[in-house]
Amino acid sequence: MKVLVVGTIALDSIKTPFGEKKEILGGSAIYSAVASSFFAETVLVGPVGNDFPAQHVEFLRSRMIDLSALQKLDGPTFRWGGYYEYDMNQAHTLETKLNILSQFDPKIPPALRSAPYVFLANVDPELQLKVMDQMDRPKLLVADTMNFWIESKREVLHEVIKRVDFMVMNDGEIRQFMETPNIPLAARRLLKLGCKGVIVKKGEHGALLFTDSAHFSAPSYPQEMLRDPTGAGDSFGGAFIGYLAKTDDLSEMNIRKAVIIGSVMASFNIEDFSLDRLKRLKHKEIIERFEEVRRFSEFEALKEEIHAGRI
Ligand code: AMP
Repeated sequence: MKVLVVGTIALDSIKTPFGEKKEILGGSAIYSAVASSFFAETVLVGPVGNDFPAQHVEFLRSRMIDLSALQKLDGPTFRWGGYYEYDMNQAHTLETKLNILSQFDPKIPPALRSAPYVFLANVDPELQLKVMDQMDRPKLLVADTMNFWIESKREVLHEVIKRVDFMVMNDGEIRQFMETPNIPLAARRLLKLGCKGVIVKKGEHGALLFTDSAHFSAPSYPQEMLRDPTGAGDSFGGAFIGYLAKTDDLSEMNIRKAVIIGSVMASFNIEDFSLDRLKRLKHKEIIERFEEVRRFSEFEALKEEIHAGRI
């Protein structure tokens, strides 16, 4: 089943305690589409400027990503600059240059409007709505966002949340958006706005899934190789929807597996700058890490201890 991803395509300049890189490939749609492409046929919808390096387009082609809805606009590509301190869960934005993003008007070609799985990666929520308006009732709509849009387009974001199935946010964003430090309470408030499920990404502490009837806490992978957390959230979202599209099973148990797949993909992504780790990633490694996470988070019921009256 096809996944359609819309979001930003960026040239990022990033500083972490482990190095500094300028004008590297990034953007929410890029990380998400590449992560999704490990599982499902993926279409990338987004704008590039006339300065976007051809080698990046070649890389996307090498991942078999459908670029028929990639728009080349006249002007510079979207740019984001940020840094991380020792708490790598917290990105500090230095600059956001929207450039051609402000003239981007997403047009979904008729042949792609029936894509059943849609990921509205972090981008202007007005653009997320424009994409939703053009789609023919997708089976699953998932959206992501960030503080930049929470602060500048709060009302529009409410509209997005009303219309999507799952909302993906990190812990800081959902606290900020729902104006409470308590994550379960924030998730409940967000569900009340209209979406069916909320996934809260907690960086190195895993992820939480909330629906009206269920709660699941996904452990994190104890990652010791952390160089650049940029794109962790986007690669989580892309792998989450890519896996669901591939399996085409929206049962709660499969959604839980998709959350783990998302965490596993994010754990690989942060091992290197830009898409460098995903470029070398093999399917086998994803499966092995999934199993490792499953093994170390398993525990048994207390049956025998209760029977024997030991507790
Ligand atoms: P994350 O997965 O949250 O680390 O996302 C990182 C990516 O988000 C970077 O590659 C940036 O280019 C991109 N980004 C930064 N600011 C924005 C924004 N305001 N809207 C959309 N994408 C952004």
